[in-house]
Amino acid sequence: MIPGMTNNAETDESRATALCKSCGLCCTGHLFVWTKLRSAELDGIQSLGVQVFREPGRRGFNQPCPLWDGQCTIYDSPQYPRFCYTYKCKLLLKVLNENIPFPDATGIVRDAMTMIRELETLLPESPLENFRERLVEYLESEVSDLELLLKAQTLLSFFEEHFGVDDFFEDPGDGRSG
Ligand code: SF4
Repeated sequence: MIPGMTNNAETDESRATALCKSCGLCCTGHLFVWTKLRSAELDGIQSLGVQVFREPGRRGFNQPCPLWDGQCTIYDSPQYPRFCYTYKCKLLLKVLNENIPFPDATGIVRDAMTMIRELETLLPESPLENFRERLVEYLESEVSDLELLLKAQTLLSFFEEHFGVDDFFEDPGDGRSG
């Protein structure tokens, strides 16, 4: 037990960990197009084989995160970025604040995965690797498949309602970090 942590807090932490392990949507390019890094983190992440970009006001790497392999492969590493450590989506905050029963939260993640899997099979071929970019590319094109359009819009609304991500190309700023 972490010193100073109550049993309840410990339970909330382990639920939060379990939720994120079952999810990963903030790493896999479904919620974000890129991950923000601090200047001091760029070289360390690059040394792990990740292609980073260093533009004024925009430092990081594109998602899907190449260090995600069904789960984060650098979670315990000193190179684990601050953004990844501090980011908490709306759903995770609800779990930590006990505003949602845990099974309901995992159900929301499952529902999101189901919608994503279905859309993956329906979206047209694209050279884009990032799911969110592909979705937006489709929505901004001459949309002809109304069923696909509805499913894409439903997923984006679901992301907004449950994960708190509302822009097409959400900036992973520090504002939502815990
Ligand atoms: S922070 Fe939210 S989106 Fe990211 S892994 Fe955890 S539950 Fe999923």
